Amino acid sequence: MDDRQFRTAMGKFATGVTVITTEVEGEVHGMTANAFMSVSLDPKLVVISIGQKARILEKIQESGIFTVNILAADQQEMSMIFAGQIKNRKVTFDRLDNKPVLSGAVAQIACEVSAEHVEGDHTLFIGKVTDIHLEEKDPLLFYSGKYRSLEKEETAVS
Ligand code: FAD
Repeated sequence: MDDRQFRTAMGKFATGVTVITTEVEGEVHGMTANAFMSVSLDPKLVVISIGQKARILEKIQESGIFTVNILAADQQEMSMIFAGQIKNRKVTFDRLDNKPVLSGAVAQIACEVSAEHVEGDHTLFIGKVTDIHLEEKDPLLFYSGKYRSLEKEETAVS
């Protein structure tokens, strides 16, 4: 199995898109990530997976906090800014539980790092959720290497 086949297979899992943020000495750093999931309801825990080369890795280790901002359909530009595909854009941040969050996101989730696990070339951070803010908007989706949006037809899950 080669790397490309693995990447292609993983890309077949349709996801939302998040921007993870953290803050060290008043400086906010963000990174686009789709490796995010809910872990536990009691206590409320989530997990993110950060590549070893990402600059945000050390910053989360230093600050001990992060936020997950689930992007709205109209925030593809934010995804590109925080994936390094659009350069030198000034972004201003709101605050939730005194942590930096992106305004206009479908969900803002503030976390404290409760555990860290190095697995291969990524580090998994378990976050204890300290606060949440929600907005009624459609999410941005990512599938097979492309941004997508929800179609209007809905199927009920029973
Ligand atoms: P940096 O280069 O440090 O930061 C990324 C970009 O964000 C830079 O251009 C920087 O200028 C900008 N930026 C940072 N802070 C600010 C700020 N305060 N104001 C304005 N701009 C700022 N990688 C993973 O490790 N895990 C994932 O789950 C993951 N999922 C991804 C999903 C998608 C859809 C995409 C497109 C990419 C994903 N990546 C993921 C890759 C990751 O987003 C990039 O590799 C990223 O550039 C690496 O982060 P960094 O902290 O090293 O980058």
